[in-house]
Amino acid sequence: MNETMYDVIIIGGGPAGYTAALYAARAGLSTLVIEKFSAGGQMTETQSIENYPGFDEGTDGFTLGFKMQAGAEKYGAKTLSTEVIKVDLLANPKAIHTAKEVLFAKAVILATGATHKHLGLEREEEMIGRGIGYCAACDGMLYRGKTVAVVGGGNSAAADALLLSRICGKVYLIHRRDSLRAEKIHHEPLMRAETVEFKWNATVTALHGDERLTGITLQSTKTGEREQIEVDGLFISIGRSPETALFAGQIALENGYILAGEDTKTSIPGVFAAGDVRKKALRQIVTAAADGAVAAHFAEEYIETEYSR
Ligand SMILES: Cc1cc2nc3c(=O)[nH]c(=O)nc-3n(C[C@H](O)[C@H](O)[C@H](O)COP(=O)(O)OP(=O)(O)OC[C@H]3O[C@@H](n4cnc5c(N)ncnc54)[C@H](O)[C@@H]3O)c2cc1C
Repeated sequence: MNETMYDVIIIGGGPAGYTAALYAARAGLSTLVIEKFSAGGQMTETQSIENYPGFDEGTDGFTLGFKMQAGAEKYGAKTLSTEVIKVDLLANPKAIHTAKEVLFAKAVILATGATHKHLGLEREEEMIGRGIGYCAACDGMLYRGKTVAVVGGGNSAAADALLLSRICGKVYLIHRRDSLRAEKIHHEPLMRAETVEFKWNATVTALHGDERLTGITLQSTKTGEREQIEVDGLFISIGRSPETALFAGQIALENGYILAGEDTKTSIPGVFAAGDVRKKALRQIVTAAADGAVAAHFAEEYIETEYSR
C-alpha cells in the first residue's frame, strides 16, 4: 500500500475521532487521526468531567483525551499532529491535504467538532473553569445551591437556565432583548421557576473576581445604565460554531452542521460525520463517542462493499 493511503482518515482527535479510531483500528483497518491541537478536543477546556460513565470520581479533559488516544493507538491507529487545510471528499479515494502532504483514504470520518461562541469579554478566557462555563449540563452541578447567571435568549440558554434553576439557589437569565427567542415550550416552566430572575435588555460588559468569578457588570441596551450583580458562575449560552468551513460546498450542511443521521452517513458515500460537527440533539462526550463507534462501523461496511469487489 502507498504510504500515504489509508483505509480510514479521521479529521479531529476529540472523543468522536478517537472512538472512531479505536473501532476502525480494532476492525483491522489502517487508520489515521489528524489533529491540529491536542487529543481530547473541547474536553481539554475542562478540569472536571463528571458525567462520562465509568469515572465515579470524575476526571479531567486532558486525561480522558490522552486515554482515548492511547486506547486507539494500542490497536494500531496513528496520529498526525497537523491541520487539515483542504479536502476533496468527492474523489475516490478521498484526498486530505495538510500543509506538507496529500493523504488518501478509502473512507473519511469528519470529527472536527464545534466551538462554543464566546462573548469576547476581557479575562473571559482565563476565567473558563473558574466561574465561566459554556455547558450547564456539564458544569451545572458545580454550582449546587449557588448563584449563577446565564447569557442568551435562544433554546439552549432557556434550557440551561431551566436546568440550573433545579440545582442552583438563584439563576439570572440575561438577554439583550425584551423577550426570549426560545420556543414557547421553554417559556412556561422558566416563568414558573421561583429561582429564575430575568434581566431583560441587558448585556454583560465586565467580569469581576481575582482567582474566581465573583460578579458581573450588566449594561442596559436601552438606557446604558450599569448594574453590578454578585454571581458564582456565568454560563455563556449564545450558540456554537461548527468547524465545517473546510467541507462547505462539498457536503450537505444545515446551519453549518453536517447533515447526518444517527448512522453518521453524510450526503457523500464513504464520508461519515461524528460528534458535535453533525446535526444532533445532544452534544456531549458520550454522544460523540457513540457516533465515533457508529461511523467506524459504517466506514468498515463501505470499504468492504466498495473496495472488495
Ligand atoms: C468547557 C467545556 C466543558 C465541557 N464539559 C463537558 C462535560 O463535562 N461532559 C460532557 O459530556 N461534555 C462536555 N463538553 C462537551 C464535549 O466536550 C463535546 O461534546 C465533545 O468534546 C465533542 O466531541 P467531538 O469529538 O465531536 O469534537 P471536539 O471535542 O470539538 O473535537 C474536535 C477536534 O477536531 C480538531 N480539528 C478541528 N478542525 C481540524 C482541522 N482542520 N484539522 C485537524 N484537526 C481539526 C480540533 O482541534 C478538536 O480537537 C464540554 C465542552 C466544553 C467546551
